[in-house]
Amino acid sequence: MSRVGAGFAGIFELYRLRSRSLGYSTKVFEAEGDIGGVWWRNCYPGARVDSVVTVYEFSDEKVWRDWSWSEIYPGWKELRRYFQHVDEKLHVRKDIVFNRKVVSAKWNADNDRWLVTSQDGFVVSARFFLLCVGNTSKIYITDIPRLDRFRGACHHTARWPQLEEGIDLHGKRVAVIGTGASGVQVIQNVGPCASSLTVYQRTPNIAFPMRQKSIDDDASATMKYDVYSLIFRRLKQTSEIPPHPVGAKRSSLEASYFDTFNLPNVDLIDLAQDPIIEITANGILTADGHERVFDVIIFATGFDAMTGGITQIDIEGTDGIFYLRQMGERYANVLGNDDRQIPQLVFHLWTRRPDRIFEWANVHCEYFTVYFQNLLTTSWTKELQGEWINACIKDTMEKTLTRIEPLLEAEEEWQNEVSESMSSRLLSTPTSVLMGKNIPGKVSEPLSYVGGIPKYIELCRKKMENGFEGFS
Ligand SMILES: Cc1cc2nc3c(=O)[nH]c(=O)nc-3n(C[C@H](O)[C@H](O)[C@H](O)COP(=O)(O)OP(=O)(O)OC[C@H]3O[C@@H](n4cnc5c(N)ncnc54)[C@H](O)[C@@H]3O)c2cc1C
Repeated sequence: MSRVGAGFAGIFELYRLRSRSLGYSTKVFEAEGDIGGVWWRNCYPGARVDSVVTVYEFSDEKVWRDWSWSEIYPGWKELRRYFQHVDEKLHVRKDIVFNRKVVSAKWNADNDRWLVTSQDGFVVSARFFLLCVGNTSKIYITDIPRLDRFRGACHHTARWPQLEEGIDLHGKRVAVIGTGASGVQVIQNVGPCASSLTVYQRTPNIAFPMRQKSIDDDASATMKYDVYSLIFRRLKQTSEIPPHPVGAKRSSLEASYFDTFNLPNVDLIDLAQDPIIEITANGILTADGHERVFDVIIFATGFDAMTGGITQIDIEGTDGIFYLRQMGERYANVLGNDDRQIPQLVFHLWTRRPDRIFEWANVHCEYFTVYFQNLLTTSWTKELQGEWINACIKDTMEKTLTRIEPLLEAEEEWQNEVSESMSSRLLSTPTSVLMGKNIPGKVSEPLSYVGGIPKYIELCRKKMENGFEGFS
């Protein structure tokens, strides 16, 4: 089995598929230098989880028994330490190949196997090919003319340099473009230390107070033995008018974000009024003719979410067509029959693909986390989905089948289910990332199933009980 990605999903799959009960030979390819997925790349100032951590971790007691968090919303450094701890307990590193980016996968119909190739030319043949590439693997940088002219430093939040001491922004003139979840975090951290901070905002963020808390020994014990067993002021506002209904976009949590705009060194530029014309050698020129000078530009412009990580890999299906390469253009066409040409390619956590019954819905959990006080989160749903994937693989192997793929009816049924789940919800508003609307040219359509966890579990259970109904 070949897997791509060593974040929560990839590690969970590796550990489980390798376990004594399943005992499969598996290898993970990871493009980066270590485990942790988003927490390896996202090490910008202030990067932290905004789901309560009790539900943002592995549910295996081997992992949580000897681990204590220091805060309910830990930062990236603590998350990295957590992943080291995970490795000490589950010994996952030995089966992960680092710095090996997968660039293509080709289905070989002669032996019903995938041929997976990495950027450095390494090739493996695998019965199953699991994509655990996450939904934020491909960064998005707004198309601004003449970006390469800038003489200062320029970083996307999710490509932050891997330096223990970080980048020293003290006394620097800093621009931040974007006020999404990463923007909120970086702005409230950089504002107090930069000599000046200028924020370029397209859509104001409706962020809720984070209410961070330390976790002492007693709280930690309670978490472990009660919680785990149960579940596995705005001052100067960035906008007077709500940009969209609350919840129509992923809501952020903030600690001092809105207050940051009250600092004398912090400026806010409304891009709706003064769009960026170009990057100059010294800074940023806006439509009002004002060129502001910066030492550092930070792009907090987010991701080509959900599908971006997949479209970076050339996936050649049974009839030699590269189905997923240009998802933005041909996504709609890929639906239905065509998808059946890609057997046992499993999209872990890649939401929306209706045909991949494997990956029924996850991102809706992020919204649950906001609406229902972080009751559920994506690490939890990765396990939920992972167990189903593993059961399906086991079934296939036990029946000594060499090929499994979804039926057309099942694809259509799932597609309808996804569309229906989204149609009545605020998340389908045009600004929603879950509709692919943040990326110019990307086809706008539901990228996630938002019908709710109970229904999702029920659907999975039924498929399983009926002998993985919907697959041939
Ligand atoms: C800054 C930030 C904060 C977040 N906070 C939260 C939160 O509070 N709550 C929440 O529920 N979710 C949050 N998320 C969403 C986050 O994506 C999930 O929580 C979770 O980490 C995803 O795990 P994953 O294993 O699916 O993917 P990732 O953690 O994204 O791991 C995917 C891995 O695949 C690797 N990869 C991708 N393409 C290739 C390739 N072609 N070849 C080899 N390797 C490849 C990547 O390098 C990466 O290591 C956050 C995301 C970001 C960016």
